[in-house]
Amino acid sequence: MCGIFGYVGDRTDAPKIVFEGLKTLEYRGYDSWGIAVKVESQSGKLLVEKRVGKLPPTLNSQLSTLNSNTALGHTRWATHGGATEANAHPHTDCSGKISAVHNGIVENWEEIKKSLSKNHHFKSQTDTEVVVHMVEELNQKLPFEEAVRRAFLRLKGLNAFIFLKHDGEIVAVKSGSPMVVGLGKNEVLIASDSAGLLPFTDRAVFIKDGEMAVISKKNVRIINAQDGKNQKVQISQLSPQKDTSSKDDKFPHIMLSEIYDQPNVLRSLAEGNQAAKLANLVNKAFGIFFVACGSASYAALSGTYLFSRIAKKHVNFSIGSEFKYQEDYIHKGTLVVPVSQSGESVDVIEPVLKAKKKGAKIAALVNVEGSTLFRIADFNFLLGAWPERAVVATKSLTAMVAALIMTAYSLAGKGKESKKLINAAALDIERFLANSQIGKIKRLAKRLSRANGVYIIGRGLSYAAALEGALKLKEACYLHAEGFAGGELKHGVIALIEKGTPCIVIAPNDETYDEIISNAQEVKARGAYIIGIGPRNNQVFDDFVKTGDLAEATMISQIVVLQLLAYFIAVEKGIDPDKPRNLAKSVTVK
Ligand code: GLU
Repeated sequence: MCGIFGYVGDRTDAPKIVFEGLKTLEYRGYDSWGIAVKVESQSGKLLVEKRVGKLPPTLNSQLSTLNSNTALGHTRWATHGGATEANAHPHTDCSGKISAVHNGIVENWEEIKKSLSKNHHFKSQTDTEVVVHMVEELNQKLPFEEAVRRAFLRLKGLNAFIFLKHDGEIVAVKSGSPMVVGLGKNEVLIASDSAGLLPFTDRAVFIKDGEMAVISKKNVRIINAQDGKNQKVQISQLSPQKDTSSKDDKFPHIMLSEIYDQPNVLRSLAEGNQAAKLANLVNKAFGIFFVACGSASYAALSGTYLFSRIAKKHVNFSIGSEFKYQEDYIHKGTLVVPVSQSGESVDVIEPVLKAKKKGAKIAALVNVEGSTLFRIADFNFLLGAWPERAVVATKSLTAMVAALIMTAYSLAGKGKESKKLINAAALDIERFLANSQIGKIKRLAKRLSRANGVYIIGRGLSYAAALEGALKLKEACYLHAEGFAGGELKHGVIALIEKGTPCIVIAPNDETYDEIISNAQEVKARGAYIIGIGPRNNQVFDDFVKTGDLAEATMISQIVVLQLLAYFIAVEKGIDPDKPRNLAKSVTVK
């Protein structure tokens, strides 16, 4: 899931450029980082600097003053080997003259390692380093470019590599993982996504799977990795996305500022007409599948309830990594709706590509314009919550739910009504962000920060909200939390309830209210401490956070309460909610 960034050109501060580029990619992984630089030296070796941990605010090592016009960098999310300096990228061959950065997993690294000569000296436990030594070995008999091509053809798995040789040759190659080349004036950049290229250029080449890019400051050649033949270079125009983030620096964390961005994101979604377009595609489809991972999967799950309840439409739902085992019956006419913030989640992209090959139409709900999913899809519903930089999803998630509410209402011929609802949700969030509810949520956060675990229950649409709330608590503040359908409690979970166990009850003013209150009674009878979230208080609640009563959009307000709770618990526990341990924002490995 790593971020990779390279530069070659007229400027002589390439290490700094690469460092700044890596910062734009840190959402892809932040357990360690490193930069390899072409330098004039007697040994002919590349200069490589690596560090464990997140990127510092500024580059304050020898690299900051080093003159070089070629550098390659990486920010890592470890798959093979711990987060150590030795395992950080770039990796080098035995001579120190060939380096590589890598995004992905080389599934057959052990087999490749065994096939290499016994003379190689390995310095890390990564799959990546094996490939660098393979290129070294092949480069003894073949030109560099050809050595990279032959090495690539031996790899199994989804991978993106950039190789840099001491003389400045850069060769990139990919299958699955994203990579884009930026064409500037007398300079070329290469990165895992286009956002970091925009300060330099708006002309880009998206490398396709199975293609190689041979890069110099004035020229980019694209080669078919299978046969080594030159391909036509297709140049795309990059357009900067509308930035919806608040520029207010009063917020101590990005997560909090993104929570506060939500009313604006919702209002701008309500202005658009993308829901009507998606509804049109849904109406024409024979079989509809929502596919998503993580938070987006809970938005998609809420979509199945919304489509059923409002539009009387059946929608299938699968989490991304499982969908590929279920898509044998996909056919021409099926509509697959992937839901993804980054548009780069490999667990979603892989089955969506498979569905597309089978003739399905793809309508993506996605936040990043130009992302892999965006480019695969036949239709894109842009969420307009860009950029979302905190690892924990907030504004993208509520935008997804709002988009699905509006689509369901459009299907039912009530598009205008849904716009009013989403605007009302925006106002409701604004209200409780501005008033005493915050104080109450902070007090609850203090109490919950001492808990060993939390249960969240909901029914129907609120079941999806309960799952999302539990994920927020796990990822933002390392609190073990489980979301359940209220009715499931007595089928086993209730055994876990003891005196004082916190149980959050998602209670909108809908057909689930009476039954979820009964479930709350059941756990209260066993000693649980009950926190209700919704428009209507109840004597069973020990604590209550009031939201507006907004039909299906109540879920949006309830989720925002859970986001705030997760945020304040993180602060209480001294955790950085913007970059929680072990995570990355965009999940590009399987
Ligand atoms: N497999 C490589 C490593 O562990 C790259 C990981 C990644 O792309 O996340 O270093």
